Amino acid sequence: MPFNHFSRLSLGVAVAALSVSALAQTAPTGTRYGSFGIDLTAADKAVKPGDDFWTYANGSWNKRTEIAADRTSAGGSVILADQAEQQVRTILDDAARDPAAVGPGAKQFGDLYASFMDEAAIERAGAAPLKPYFAKIDAAGDKQKLQVLFSTVGYASPVEVGQLPDPADPKRYAVAAGQGSLGMGGRDYYLEQGPKYDTFRTAYRAYVEKMLTLSGIADASAKADRIVALETAMAKVQWSPVQSRDLKAMLKPMDAAGRKALAPEFDWPLLLSTAGYGNFPTVYMTNSTALTELGKIFAATPVSTWQDWMKFNLAVANSGVLPKAFDQATFDFYGKTLADQPQQRARWKRGIALVNGTMGEAVGEVYVKRHYPPESEAKMGELIANLRAAYKERITANGWMDPATKTQALAKLAAFDPRIGHPVKYIDYASLNVVRGDPVGNAMRSGEFQHRLDLSRLGKPVDRTLWGMTPQTVNAYYDPLNNQITFPAAILQPPYFDPKADAAVNYGAIGAIIGHEMGHGFDDQGSQFSASGKFENWWTPEARAAFTQRTAALSKQYDAYEPIPGVHVKGALTLGENIGDLGGVETAYAAYQKYQADHGKAPVIGGLTGDQRFFLAYAQAWQAKLREGAARARLLTDPHSPPFYRVNGIVRNVDAWYTAFGVKPGDALYLAPAQRVHIW
Ligand SMILES: [Zn+2]
Repeated sequence: MPFNHFSRLSLGVAVAALSVSALAQTAPTGTRYGSFGIDLTAADKAVKPGDDFWTYANGSWNKRTEIAADRTSAGGSVILADQAEQQVRTILDDAARDPAAVGPGAKQFGDLYASFMDEAAIERAGAAPLKPYFAKIDAAGDKQKLQVLFSTVGYASPVEVGQLPDPADPKRYAVAAGQGSLGMGGRDYYLEQGPKYDTFRTAYRAYVEKMLTLSGIADASAKADRIVALETAMAKVQWSPVQSRDLKAMLKPMDAAGRKALAPEFDWPLLLSTAGYGNFPTVYMTNSTALTELGKIFAATPVSTWQDWMKFNLAVANSGVLPKAFDQATFDFYGKTLADQPQQRARWKRGIALVNGTMGEAVGEVYVKRHYPPESEAKMGELIANLRAAYKERITANGWMDPATKTQALAKLAAFDPRIGHPVKYIDYASLNVVRGDPVGNAMRSGEFQHRLDLSRLGKPVDRTLWGMTPQTVNAYYDPLNNQITFPAAILQPPYFDPKADAAVNYGAIGAIIGHEMGHGFDDQGSQFSASGKFENWWTPEARAAFTQRTAALSKQYDAYEPIPGVHVKGALTLGENIGDLGGVETAYAAYQKYQADHGKAPVIGGLTGDQRFFLAYAQAWQAKLREGAARARLLTDPHSPPFYRVNGIVRNVDAWYTAFGVKPGDALYLAPAQRVHIW
């Protein structure tokens, strides 16, 4: 039962961190990219920086780079992900030879991986591993029994329940309920008009039928029609990703009477107690109007249709550990059709992903020992301190916020809890029963293990040592309920973080990423949480109005961008990330100026000033290209703007960029000073 709307409000694609006094001020040596940390061969000098800064920085790279056949994107984060994948593979190979020498959990994750890799055994088993779970679904012959399964780990449900730090008191845990997920991903795939979406829907219906047939279910064609009709009905009433960003609407605490009045068709006491949350008198009922409508759909849909839908979902969720025909059908739809990915990832690579997803911290502990230089922590700590100092100066000097609100903002800034590299304690997987040769059972038991772990935390103070990402993840995140910024080990590498690179490069890359994560504390959502992580207003109405005026202007700028003909960036969906990017660049730039004040003015290196190198490093941190299908999926559901606009859409608001590159009226990205948005 994934429920991460809250604990990871801002978690997304790749964003990260930085360092100071240890950074080289003169032309450094030994960098991974170019002679000082920037790959000048990636640039396209034929493009004017003021016309298209992303292409100026990355155009030659873009022309010469092909996305790997088994990937939906290429770029710096993919290179690091590939590297981490190889490193984890070596750990797993070592675990297969001598688990005791590798570390705690190595026997288990070795067995997990071996079970996934044994394709012959998987083929021999056929669809039989699904049978015990299908039998449970068949036995759920009325709506009460169905709801017991809805709340049981491993089974699909139109509504989900889960736990999170209580927004009203984030030191303790609370429970929330909300709409479930849909087979095609975002609701737009069910509802958008046009031939492209018709093609997706036709392919999806065929895929549903195929999975039912492979699972040995009779009358698959008629059942597929009913399943798609059911999901389409749910898509119509679900809240969109933009609606779900409205925290005031989302965080609606309700008692038992309120829950019953909201969606009387569901047996809330049964749903909650089955999931282990029977003792919570108050529950946050997110997507409230959707829950009302989902209740009606639940009542109006025959038990048998729900049963077929649950079986289909079970087969999809386990298709990677079922025979080739299941696996191929799932890749053909999600990979080829939806994401435009020509080739499936090699089995061992998917095995790594499975192990990372199931026992990620056990593997991560070994990964950290082998591949994370401890000195990175001190360097990152310095960069974080410098970014925090720059934010402090900018908040103090900002002209649109009143003193009372500034005091609160500074208190929140001071309370940011940075976490670097890896957790102080790792999850103990000893009670996870991994059975060699039973990959479907392993997947189900893994879900149950995670849920038991969650439940074991209830009634205790919120555990602030938990991590939402593994150390081997190339990413970073901000968690508003704990007011924490977290930078896993795997992102603390070039092109994001390179102690050997020029200071300008580190400030422009990881510095802007640190600033981005801090910026989430002050974005449209994060700004509604106080220093303690509590969901409470600390703004005067005047300051909030001034903030909203600025963010609305940024949102409008992004609405105008159209990466795929007919598919625009959603300014309201991406607002939080764009606020983070803009604040991140402005603040990292200010921190870089402070660095020069302490260490002397940056020299010209490779014909580039320090300021030019700063912005180029920022643009190269977003050196990435995506297949159209993957780009479309992100535009519909992902709060992050496409990499191209994370560069061009941001720099055009930053005054120092105009100066650094002599950008003038008439250049395509030029905005008159009054049109530029400045927030943090
Ligand atoms: Zn972000």
